Amino acid sequence: MFIPQPICTGCQGDHLEWVESSGRGRVYSFTTVHRPPRPEFDVPYVVAIVELDEGWHMLTNLIGCEPNSVQVDMPVEVSFERMSEEITLPMFRPVG
Ligand SMILES: [Zn+2]
Repeated sequence: MFIPQPICTGCQGDHLEWVESSGRGRVYSFTTVHRPPRPEFDVPYVVAIVELDEGWHMLTNLIGCEPNSVQVDMPVEVSFERMSEEITLPMFRPVG
């Protein structure tokens, strides 16, 4: 799961570990934001849950496509977007 959790949400145990992903998956669900939470945000943008090929879900943004072209089950791949000197975010864009 991403965002990383301090404990397992199923049993509250600490048996979680980091696992490397291929970075490929499909759009599980999405919504398009038209009203920015802060004026610095450019709208519209797409917030999505991506289901990775390994089976887990990730909350992210879709980039590199028109918001009205996004569809559930669309194949996507990770794109690491540098936001600042300290912050790089994993976003996703359509494959092909
Ligand atoms: Zn557990």
